Amino acid sequence: MQNESQPSNNEARAEAAFERLGTRRPKCSVPGCNESDWRALTGKHPHILCYEHMCAEQGRSTVEQQHTLGRKIDPDMEVTMAGNDHRIMDSYKDQWPKETRENPDGSPALLAAAYLRVPFDWLIMIAKRYLEPVFLWLEALDSLFCEKLGRRWWVGLGLPDIYSRRVEQ
Ligand SMILES: [Zn+2]
Repeated sequence: MQNESQPSNNEARAEAAFERLGTRRPKCSVPGCNESDWRALTGKHPHILCYEHMCAEQGRSTVEQQHTLGRKIDPDMEVTMAGNDHRIMDSYKDQWPKETRENPDGSPALLAAAYLRVPFDWLIMIAKRYLEPVFLWLEALDSLFCEKLGRRWWVGLGLPDIYSRRVEQ
């Protein structure tokens, strides 16, 4: 489980980012970009850019190599990652215990812990950034359709009930 000090440390980092960005509800100012995670934002309100749009503006690639386990543990293990996601993953890694992140004595237990923390962080990032927005959008869509088309809107639209719990006899 996460370190007890993580939430407050994370809160303090978020507060510092809101101060740096000049707003408590930061968002990339490029039209059509929905990046709103403080970890991936630069600049100052109202001229906030996400890291990827900042890179694009500077003529740099928006895709980078992320050191999966960190440079100190394995400088050769890298994955290609979108720049904004890279900022998030590095931010999560900053929350690892220093001993796990640096493993100065080469402890196999800490190396195994790092191997487990990498997919854990991936799952958290994917859940927060890619799954949560979709289920929130689907719930909003259902609410809108119920309001406009009735509670069983899919029947009226002729859509199959793909999640029917009916048991075939
Ligand atoms: Zn952006």
